[in-house]
Amino acid sequence: MPRPIYAEINTANIKSNFEIIRGVNSGQKMWSVVKANAYGHGISNIWRHLNSTDGFALLDLNEALLLRKEGWTGKILLLEGFFEHTDLEIIDEHQLTFAVHSDWQIDALRNYHFANKVDVYLKVNSGMNRLGFTPFEIGNVLNKLRRIPYINSVTLMSHFANADTREGVIEPMMTIDNLHTPENVEHCLANSAALLWHRDTHRNWVRPGIILYGASPSGNWADIADTGLKPVMSLKSKIIAIQHLKKGDAVGYGGNFRATNNQTIGVVACGYADGYFRTSREGTPVLVDGVRTGLVGRVSMDMLTVDLTSCPSACINSDVELWGEHLPVDVVANAAGTIGYELLTALAPRVTVRVI
Ligand SMILES: *Cc1c(COP(=O)(O)O)cnc(C)c1O
Repeated sequence: MPRPIYAEINTANIKSNFEIIRGVNSGQKMWSVVKANAYGHGISNIWRHLNSTDGFALLDLNEALLLRKEGWTGKILLLEGFFEHTDLEIIDEHQLTFAVHSDWQIDALRNYHFANKVDVYLKVNSGMNRLGFTPFEIGNVLNKLRRIPYINSVTLMSHFANADTREGVIEPMMTIDNLHTPENVEHCLANSAALLWHRDTHRNWVRPGIILYGASPSGNWADIADTGLKPVMSLKSKIIAIQHLKKGDAVGYGGNFRATNNQTIGVVACGYADGYFRTSREGTPVLVDGVRTGLVGRVSMDMLTVDLTSCPSACINSDVELWGEHLPVDVVANAAGTIGYELLTALAPRVTVRVI
C-alpha cells in the first residue's frame, strides 16, 4: 500500500469559486492565475475546470507550453515577461501575451521580427517597487511600444502591495489615474484582494489567483469566510501508530513536548518533506476523524504527532485532515507563522494528488 498521504483536489469547488468570482466582478475580463503549478494544485488538474476564463496568467514558459500541449488555445499572459531574447521565439510561436517592465525588453522587441502580431502588458510601478516603469517614463515607453509594428495592443498593468487593507490602493490608484494614458488603453490591475475589496480597481481585466483556490488574499480565513469560496485542496493522511504516554514522557526530536498526564497520541504519516511546516506550533489544529485536535511535539521529516485526548475513538487508520475543506489552510498556516499561499505552493512533489 502506498504511504497514506495525498492531496485531494475538489474540481467542483474550483468551478464554484470561479463562478463566485465572475459574480463579484461585473463583466470585466478575467485572467485566471495558475502560476506556481496552479498554486500547488497542478495546472493539468485544474485548467479544464476553468476553461471559460478569458485567459491564464503565469510566469514560466514551461507552464505556458504545458497549457498549449494540453490543448488550451486561448490567451496566456506571462506576468514577469520574457527573461532573455530567445524567449521571443517561443512567445511568437505560441502566441503568448507578456509583460514589459524594463528598457532592455523594449530594445529586444524592436530587434525581433515577429511572424504574428503580439499583445503586450506595459507594467507601471505604482509604488511596490518590484517591476515596472516609473509613472514619469510611462508616456514615453507607451509611444515606443506603439511604434513597433508587430505590437497589436498595449494594456496598462500594475500590481498592489496592500490591496488587503482598507486604504491600500488609494495612492497607487491616484498614480495610475494621473498617467493620462489614451482612452483606448485598457487597464489590468486587480489581484484577488483588490477584486474582493476595491471595486474601483476592476477596470478592464482582473487577475485573481488565490481566491480561485479558496484561500484568503489577506492570509486570514475570516476575511473570506462569508464569500462562499471553498477550499480546493485538502491534504489528507492517516494515523499509522498510537502511543500511550505516561506523565513526563517526551515526544519527538528534542523531546520538547512532555505529557503532563497519562495521554494518548496519534502518529500521522505527514512531515515537513510533504510540505507541512516544521515551524508549526504546539496546538496547530488537525482533524482526526473529523474531530479538531492539535499538534504535539516537533514536526519531523515524515511524521507528526497529535493529541488524541479529544478523540477517544481514534485508532490506527483513522482519517486525518491536515488542511482543506473542513480546516482552512490559512488557519493552519497562521499557526506556522505564514499564510495559505505558502503552504499550498510548498506541497511536496512526493505527495500524490487525487482529483475528484
Ligand atoms: C500572483 C499574482 C497575481 C495573483 O495574486 P493573488 O493574490 O493570488 O490573487 C496577480 N498579479 C500578479 C502580477 C501576480 O504576480
